[in-house]
Amino acid sequence: MSTFSTLGLPEALVRAAHECGYDTPTPIQAQAIPVVLAGGDVLAAAQTGTGKTAAFLMPILARLMASPKPSGGPIRVLILTPTRELAAQIEASFRDYARYTKQTALVIFGGVSINPQISQLRRGVDVLIATPGRLLDLAGQRAVNLSNIETFVLDEADRMLDMGFIRDIRRVLALLPAKRQNLLFSATFPTEITSLADQLLNQPVRVEVARSGASPVLISQRVCVLDKTRKREALVQLIKEGGWFQVLVFVRTKHGANRLAEQLEKSAISALAIHGNKSQNARTRALAEFKDGKLQVLVATDIAARGIDISELPHVVNFELPHVPEDYVHRIGRTGRAGSEGEAHALVSPEELSQLAAIERLLGKRIERFTMPGFDKPSPHEADHVPERRQMAPREQQGQRRPRSPGSRTQANGNTQRAGASPRGAPTRSR
Ligand code: AMP
Repeated sequence: MSTFSTLGLPEALVRAAHECGYDTPTPIQAQAIPVVLAGGDVLAAAQTGTGKTAAFLMPILARLMASPKPSGGPIRVLILTPTRELAAQIEASFRDYARYTKQTALVIFGGVSINPQISQLRRGVDVLIATPGRLLDLAGQRAVNLSNIETFVLDEADRMLDMGFIRDIRRVLALLPAKRQNLLFSATFPTEITSLADQLLNQPVRVEVARSGASPVLISQRVCVLDKTRKREALVQLIKEGGWFQVLVFVRTKHGANRLAEQLEKSAISALAIHGNKSQNARTRALAEFKDGKLQVLVATDIAARGIDISELPHVVNFELPHVPEDYVHRIGRTGRAGSEGEAHALVSPEELSQLAAIERLLGKRIERFTMPGFDKPSPHEADHVPERRQMAPREQQGQRRPRSPGSRTQANGNTQRAGASPRGAPTRSR
């Protein structure tokens, strides 16, 4: 079995990994690290929770360390990611992994003042972590020079596509030098991503830890079929009788999110809705309360939930099923992460059975049904429904992970500088 040393990482990074509580590389790390170290392009099918961030950051750091440049030089690595939350998480991981190196990173995203970011960029940085919109703004103002990029990482490419960033990505690509290393990470591979990968990557090594349809193995999934008018009552009962806390509930619309949060409050369950119409401030506050355990339920739409990183989240509820089956996999991926167990429940009305069938086809298995006395209403077609089988990821692929203690990601290293920081900590410069 490989270790971080046998994968070829220098001692400074091996030590940092161990201090993060990582004993063994995850499958994606074991596969990707040697390829990235050797300078090759990578096409990785991996969702959040697989350890993909370290799979690219660690070998990138190793390469930077192997050919040091004077500080204040050009940006050498660009990491493009869809949301500010993800950008901030990558930067936090960078701080963890780079603590015994001299490499620096800067995170830039929109919604905060641009001027501190401009002065930070002037001082020079090795690794730039950015969301596409703000990066292009800065490029338009000639505040960022990407012509010396050695490695380009496109993280969560399918999310970028969902959020309408594909044109922005192409604009960013036009600013990069032709000769560079490219790493593309995506949980799913719709046609647009495959064609982007064909243009972007040069003889990539394919790395796959879980098929796009495979659900993480430590999540127990259950479905209750019931009338849609009874879902709210059923949810209240599940939460109260199960004594659930930190419940992430998915709905389809912003309006539905607001309404459900209000109704839960009326049933004496503390709840807040997060969706695209809420200000960044309101979203950050809701998330902080949720993470601290002050808020029992967070009701979210798919867009708002992107980029939320809450380790060991015990409960995810699909109050309404998504129209796109892959979104179901993303939703339930919020629980049981990094080796800890989680439960995903779905409340499904007879009208949603075709969506359920599509999800089960993607998963390659039938999801276990559960009944709630007084609520359940199996449809006549339910009993006959047998999904088509698709290949599943092997069980051990996620089995060797070790959970990290909650909050350990926020341990700042002593060298971290925060410049021009808003209370939310952006922009942040790390060393
Ligand atoms: P990611 O997929 O990059 O979002 O990582 C998911 C979680 O797994 C994060 O909390 C990481 O800190 C954690 N993690 C990453 N690599 C390892 C490892 N080798 N062993 C244990 N936990 C890890």
